[in-house]
Amino acid sequence: MKESPPIKPEKYLSETGIKIPPSGIREFFDIVYTRPDCISLGVGEPDFDTPWRISDSGIYSIKDGYTHYTPNRGLPELREALVKKIKQFINISYDPSADIIITMGVSQGLDLALRSIINPGDEVIIFEPCYVSYKANIEMLHGVSIAVDTIPQEDFQINTERLERAITPRTKALLLNYPSNPTGISINKTKLEEIAKIAIKHDLIVLSDEIYSSINYAGEHVSIASLPGMRERTIYLNGFSKSHAMTGWRLGYVCGPEFLISTMLKIHQYTALCAPSMAQYAALEALENGDKEVQRMITEYIRRRNFIVNGFNEALLPCRTPDGAFYVFPDIRSTGLSSREFALKLLDSKSVAVVPGNVFGNAGEGHIRCSYATSIENIREALSRIEAFVKERPWDF
Ligand code: PLP
Repeated sequence: MKESPPIKPEKYLSETGIKIPPSGIREFFDIVYTRPDCISLGVGEPDFDTPWRISDSGIYSIKDGYTHYTPNRGLPELREALVKKIKQFINISYDPSADIIITMGVSQGLDLALRSIINPGDEVIIFEPCYVSYKANIEMLHGVSIAVDTIPQEDFQINTERLERAITPRTKALLLNYPSNPTGISINKTKLEEIAKIAIKHDLIVLSDEIYSSINYAGEHVSIASLPGMRERTIYLNGFSKSHAMTGWRLGYVCGPEFLISTMLKIHQYTALCAPSMAQYAALEALENGDKEVQRMITEYIRRRNFIVNGFNEALLPCRTPDGAFYVFPDIRSTGLSSREFALKLLDSKSVAVVPGNVFGNAGEGHIRCSYATSIENIREALSRIEAFVKERPWDF
């Protein structure tokens, strides 16, 4: 038999597949896995296991034979429970049979939202530093991501003058995330009102990723979707991954005006059919009986947040107190190192893993993201190694 000719990957792969860079976080953590002595402040997920009663509900649903497809939109009882919860939490009314889809995490909700609005060349504004998937998701759809920087001198808050300057006739949407990954900073009502005014003036859709909204220490969480004139132009994204320590269950939801949700539903029908049935039953239990557990985790995050913020400031790396999520974003510019150099040298000399700020966009340069979704003991040890690293300056030798 004749030998087949060698495969030429570039002949088969799509241009998008070739062009898209691997996630900066993953790339970095491939190194971490080779270091067993390493303390990681890098993970972007709760260190808590899913509360047992939630896991049990998923297990019982399998035992009871609920292992089939659910309606494309998701289980009706879960949708109903969710719209009730959303009404209580952020005071927006959604119709469970028209304005919501249960998705495989916020990740899928975001993908559906972007697919339903982007034509090639359309611009979506993101606020860097931001979650690594935003730019990639927009660009995989041949959209153009336009980064508006948020800067440390302005506490990483959105500057609405810079935002307005970035808007062009091709701008379709703004993508917000509050509290933010990686800075932990949230957006208050006054600032949201200013952003809403701009969205209405320029007729833009707002994608509002509020995945960290229940891990919010700043007081009441306000959603931009609840502001006058915004419900009809906002796609509200949320999920169970962070709030209920359910990252592996892959469960989220997306709400919005019917014209957007019905378009997303068509895409969902062809690409996913439905979210996993057992995860939907687990989520129902999380909504009905999970509040105490969520509160327990938040209390622990607050304790760790205060500890890590003090620790960084004592190590002379200025660190803001975050409003929510489980990240701090200390400023490492005083070391003279880039954030990538800092992270690599810290890993090499002290076996502590952090994420370089530049992976979240150029505006993250000069900072590192540290997650406090790990034990106080780990945080204490990591901080003591970081303090020694900053004092010893091993990079000067
Ligand atoms: N949005 C933000 C801001 C995140 O930080 C993450 C995960 O880290 C996601 C979305 C993805 O969430 P999910 O697990 O619901 O897909």
